[in-house]
Amino acid sequence: MSSNKPSSFKELSLNNYLFNEESAKLFEEHIEKTLNYIQQFLSQRKFYKGDDIIEIKKDKLKAKLQNIVNAHSIDDVLEELNELYIKNSVSFHNPNYVAHLNCPITLPSIVAEILATSINTAVETWDQSNAATFIEQEVIHWICNEYNFDENADGVFTSGGTQSNFMALLLARDHYAFKNLGINIKQNGWSDDISKFRIFCSEKSHFSIKKNAALLGLGFDAVIPVKVDKEMRMDVSELAFEIERVKQEGNIPIAVVATLGTTDYGSFDPLEAIGILAKEQNMWLHVDGAYGGCFILTDTHSHYFKGIEMVDSVTVDFHKTLFQPVSCSAFLVKDKEHFKYVSYYADYLNPLESKDEERPDLIEKSIQTTRRFDALKVWLTLKTLGTNTIATYLETVHYLIKEVYENVKLNNAFEIAHVPALSTLVFRYKHKDVDDDVIHNEINLYIKNTLYKAGQASIASTKLKGVTYLKFTLLNPKNTVANLLNIIKMVEETGVKYEPKLNMA
Ligand SMILES: *Cc1c(COP(=O)(O)O)cnc(C)c1O
Repeated sequence: MSSNKPSSFKELSLNNYLFNEESAKLFEEHIEKTLNYIQQFLSQRKFYKGDDIIEIKKDKLKAKLQNIVNAHSIDDVLEELNELYIKNSVSFHNPNYVAHLNCPITLPSIVAEILATSINTAVETWDQSNAATFIEQEVIHWICNEYNFDENADGVFTSGGTQSNFMALLLARDHYAFKNLGINIKQNGWSDDISKFRIFCSEKSHFSIKKNAALLGLGFDAVIPVKVDKEMRMDVSELAFEIERVKQEGNIPIAVVATLGTTDYGSFDPLEAIGILAKEQNMWLHVDGAYGGCFILTDTHSHYFKGIEMVDSVTVDFHKTLFQPVSCSAFLVKDKEHFKYVSYYADYLNPLESKDEERPDLIEKSIQTTRRFDALKVWLTLKTLGTNTIATYLETVHYLIKEVYENVKLNNAFEIAHVPALSTLVFRYKHKDVDDDVIHNEINLYIKNTLYKAGQASIASTKLKGVTYLKFTLLNPKNTVANLLNIIKMVEETGVKYEPKLNMA
């Protein structure tokens, strides 16, 4: 009898590209080759090789997936990838990278990533993750304890602060509707009253609040920006005023977001005063601690968390300030009952009748189904480094930014936007002969782009009242004051170089 097997099955029996006991040796070889390239990446001296449009166009062609019908050797492809990606990549650990909230990562977190990726645990149902469930739960309990939450609190790992904030607004929306209006959004969907829901956050809060409000059907306009004081903290009397105004309009204030560590200024909203007001008004209180949340571990910043016992939910990003690889974030709730607004019991995964306290299914708390085991890297980092080391890292980056601030303050070539509370500094170069902010904006962008393109330093920019500023974001405790002041010097020198262009204009 003739077999129906396609002829290509013969080849399948000869190769072994899948991770299993037979490919163990090959796996080791692949890892060794990869490590070799990682070592090359680490030996790069600049943070980035530089930006040149001709090279970028070539890279775009190199990224094309051509001739992929047949197999190619990993050696050849890794070599191609080295030219295309590894050599091109930005090293966030480089001390001249001071742009965004990308942190250097701990060694145990990388070890954990290799393990979690190779074993490929999906933390969704107990039967897929068993003991990994306890590791995730334990990390959640650890951070809940840091905030002094009791055993009613719980949480779940998410893909990032944006998703954590999404969950916060979803729970706030559904809880308000259910508790106060008897509306079950999860079951029945939309109702007109929900269009009146309003969420308050400072005008310096993260854009994901607005974006998530839109995703939740509330729209950008449901988010009421509250004015900040000169240290970029939410002004609580403005909050009270806005809540009253919204009520007068016939709309319904449902939630306040207090940001602990704003993305641009690292400022901390006055949590306790906001909390008292939110509770008086029967509103959900969410803390966006994506950036500042881990500073609960420090001596320098723990006082900013006063009032944390009043919150309903918290966002904390471990891929920002716990030195973890992306993705790694958590969403916490004070009352775990509230996860009911996202839970679903699927016959094929977690039927309600099989619910078992001893063998929890973490999927009940998540908006994701298949989910990475991101908790492992935090667990391994905590066990190996210890929280004292992490606290020291965080206090060090804060110290570094204060030193930069004290120096830049004395330099007439610069204007500073705020006193740094965390690890960012927003400032701009001001040319002595120029009065016009439009030209200052051009100069500052020129400085940023010139240093980036040359691979000298990566600095961020932002706008304050329509004016362009430069921004240092420090998350590397191995940086030094001397190096940072050297970047400031490069900024100034580049600004001065713009002068000939000014004369030409
Ligand atoms: C970075 C940040 C976010 C978004 O977090 P992602 O992990 O990038 O999704 C939200 N809020 C604040 C205050 C942030 O700084």
